[in-house]
Amino acid sequence: MSAEAISVDPVGAALPITFAPRLIEWQRHSGRSGLPWQNTRDPYRVWLSEVMLQQTQVSTVLSYYPRFLERFPDVRALAAALPDDVMALWSGLGYYSRARNLHRCAQAVVRDHHGVFPDTAEQLETLPGIGASTAAAIAAFCHGERISILDGNVRRVLSRLLAFEGDLAQAGPQRELWSLAQALLPEAPTREDMTAYTQGLMDLGATVCQRTKPLCGRCPVQMMCRAHGTDQISRFPVKTRRVARRFENWWLLLVRGTGADGQQAFWLERRPAPGIWAGLYCPPVFADEPALQASLSSGFARRLQPLEPVSHSLTHRELRLHPLLLDLREGQESDGLPEGQWVPAGALIDHGLPTPVRQLLSALS
Ligand code: SF4
Repeated sequence: MSAEAISVDPVGAALPITFAPRLIEWQRHSGRSGLPWQNTRDPYRVWLSEVMLQQTQVSTVLSYYPRFLERFPDVRALAAALPDDVMALWSGLGYYSRARNLHRCAQAVVRDHHGVFPDTAEQLETLPGIGASTAAAIAAFCHGERISILDGNVRRVLSRLLAFEGDLAQAGPQRELWSLAQALLPEAPTREDMTAYTQGLMDLGATVCQRTKPLCGRCPVQMMCRAHGTDQISRFPVKTRRVARRFENWWLLLVRGTGADGQQAFWLERRPAPGIWAGLYCPPVFADEPALQASLSSGFARRLQPLEPVSHSLTHRELRLHPLLLDLREGQESDGLPEGQWVPAGALIDHGLPTPVRQLLSALS
């Protein structure tokens, strides 16, 4: 590490004082600038992009974001939407609680704030589904508030920059890193400075200081990075607790019928809340094959055809899906089937479906 100027912040850590100006300069010259949610101060658009980008890659969000905005161009349109319509547009993005909170939040903005997002991060954080980092991003981008974001990417960057030894699985060190993030903010920034700084933090985490194989040779703050200077990048961020993944087997009853108009249809149920895929449409799910067979009349149970199992990863679980097809061919009987409803194949696009279910059904349509 070179002799970078440092200041000592209130929690006693030495901070590189040139971090903010370097980051701002780098963002303006080399950061990302053409993303559709940049160059706007509309809180609705910033909020929507922030929620979509949580746990989802930019390349995926690029196709969902314009479609969502086309259908729900402002917060009032989203608040007035049917929950099913919101879920259908979210279908495939995963982490469906985000879509439910998005809808609830839009309704709260219209009901409690006359359709206008509050100005400050503190007030924004009182809305459903808006956490501290998302609130900070909206306040910084839209109103120039001097406040730092601290999502997973930024935690990684700052913990490497400062060689932060605190265990980020614990609340105390998380708070400490947040106060260090606040201390690193630019002094007396203009609104434009806050936009460039906030975007710079995001860009650095997404495109340079990546989780594996960070591109330190292209990093604008390499000369002040303590993890790099001491060759200990792989030690940071420190996080002791790893979430244990659970493995589960699900048996899916795929029933295919044909409507009076000759169109194929599938027998689907609404997944209960709370739980995995809550509110989405799915073939009836069973814990094992005998339970699935017992849900059917004996005539139907004899006609089941096993399909190739499918694996699907969720945050804390690995699902192994075992689809069994009951092909009714002619007609759409409902007697002798578990609870559910017929959904025509042509209407699946308007329904919220988990990604592996959508793939299974499209292969059969
Ligand atoms: Fe990350 Fe490397 Fe830059 Fe340090 S020098 S902040 S480890 S990219």
